[in-house]
Amino acid sequence: MAMLQRFFSMKCPHCHQDNDKVTDTRTSSDGGEIRRRRTCGNCGRRFTTFERAEAVQRRVVKRDGTRVPYKREKMQQGLERACWKRKISDEQIAELMKQVERDIESTFEKEVDSRFIGERMMHYLADLDQVAYVRFASVYRHFENADDFIKELTEMHKNPDKEWSLGELLRDRSK
Ligand SMILES: [Zn+2]
Repeated sequence: MAMLQRFFSMKCPHCHQDNDKVTDTRTSSDGGEIRRRRTCGNCGRRFTTFERAEAVQRRVVKRDGTRVPYKREKMQQGLERACWKRKISDEQIAELMKQVERDIESTFEKEVDSRFIGERMMHYLADLDQVAYVRFASVYRHFENADDFIKELTEMHKNPDKEWSLGELLRDRSK
C-alpha cells in the first residue's frame, strides 16, 4: 500500500511538495469520476484531486489515407444490410460487433486501418452465415469485375460443410 500511495502521490498546490497522503477516495454516483481527498505531509493542508477516464476518440484510416471518426453505427449498418433476411438474430450481430471491437482495441491505439475492420468482420461473418459473408465481402471489397466475385464464390465452394445457394447469392447482390 505504501508503494501505491507513493505512486499516486500529487504535488501539493500550496507548498508544491510531493508528499501527500490520500485520506478519502470516493466514486461519483454515475461512476464517471473518482475524487480523492489528500493531506500534504509537508504543510499539512488539504486538497482534492479528480480523476476522469479520457475517452479515446478512435479514427479510421481509409484506403486513400484520409481519416474519419470511428462510427460504430456505420459498421453495424453494413452488417445489418449483409444479414438482411438471413436467420441471424440481433444478439448475433451484437456479439459479432463485440468481437470485432475487441480485436480493434487489442491491436490499435487510436487509429484503425479500415481494411482491418473489414477483414475482421468478414472473418466472423464467414463463420456465421455464408450468404451474409458474400454480400458483405462483395460490397466491402468493391469487386471490380465478375471474375473477382466468382473467385470468391469458388473459394467458398471448396468448403463443402457450408450451405449456400449460388442463385440466391447472385440475386441478392443486384442492387
Ligand atoms: Zn503542502
